Amino acid sequence: MTGRAIVRGETTIEAGGVIHHDDQPLSWEEADTRAGRRLDRRRNWAFLEGKLCVTVSWTQPCSGCSEGYGRRGFGCDECGYHGKVRNACWVPASILEIEV
Ligand SMILES: [Zn+2]
Repeated sequence: MTGRAIVRGETTIEAGGVIHHDDQPLSWEEADTRAGRRLDRRRNWAFLEGKLCVTVSWTQPCSGCSEGYGRRGFGCDECGYHGKVRNACWVPASILEIEV
């Protein structure tokens, strides 16, 4: 997997409640400079409110069709009939103590 780096600009809430993040891509050189170290090119990085964050991702049962925790669903529109969904979020890099 090839990663990338972004810096998040202004977050605005548009009509209809759609959250829009003004993300700008960074070159690796720019990202390294901001981070003060060389970042792992295989990961996704973001500078959110000036803090270095990294993506963590996981697979979980689909909330639309799964009946119990840890159980794969039977499939529905929401998950494309796979019974499970990929999920990801940003976490501060400092709490993961990622070695580079
Ligand atoms: Zn589903």
